[in-house]
Amino acid sequence: IFRNKLTYFAAAKVSSSFPPAELPEIAFAGRSNVGKSSLLNSLTRQWGVVRTSDKPGHTQTINFFNLGTKLCLVDLPGYGFAYAKEEVKDAWEDLVKEYVSTRVGLKRVCLLIDTKWGMKPRDHELINLMERSQTKYQIVLTKTDTVFPLDVARRAMQIEENLTANKSIVQPVMMVSSKTGAGIQSLRTVLAKVARF
Ligand code: GDP
Repeated sequence: IFRNKLTYFAAAKVSSSFPPAELPEIAFAGRSNVGKSSLLNSLTRQWGVVRTSDKPGHTQTINFFNLGTKLCLVDLPGYGFAYAKEEVKDAWEDLVKEYVSTRVGLKRVCLLIDTKWGMKPRDHELINLMERSQTKYQIVLTKTDTVFPLDVARRAMQIEENLTANKSIVQPVMMVSSKTGAGIQSLRTVLAKVARF
């Protein structure tokens, strides 16, 4: 499925402008700089379609990309700029909350966490939101090449232990490096299955 051509489909700043949900969707969320654009590029092997667009102060948007006519990959706005204003945070919350809790066809949210830094309060906020709305999600540890392999395993274990969530909602932690390609094929395999059911 990840061999299909990736095309820009739509962008939404407010929930009223979400495009019609015609395909199954897999969404990607995480703090700014977590490696989200790099991961989308690596998964699809297509560079230049998804760009890092959410800079501090910019209006945050949800971007929708189609993979052929099979699957829609959804880039949720990054969060966690130290100096983001309250209004920016509120707008992010309204937009993302609406998306994860009401979107028809949303099969899974991949929550990206930087392996070196681990989970932060805003990540937990998003998790709480997804648990309240019973949205299936999965933690993806990024940039695994930046720490020793043992520390990657430790981080994964620590996160698994901390997620007390309902096991039917939270899926096993995955580990990837867009730089070395480690774990990318495994993630493709898992997500391709998600897209089919
Ligand atoms: P985004 O803001 O979440 O979309 O993050 P980007 O994909 O733009 O990446 C943020 C920074 O992290 C960039 O400087 C990337 O080159 C770097 N980066 C992304 N993925 C990796 C990775 O797997 N390993 C390493 N070492 N750096 C990465």
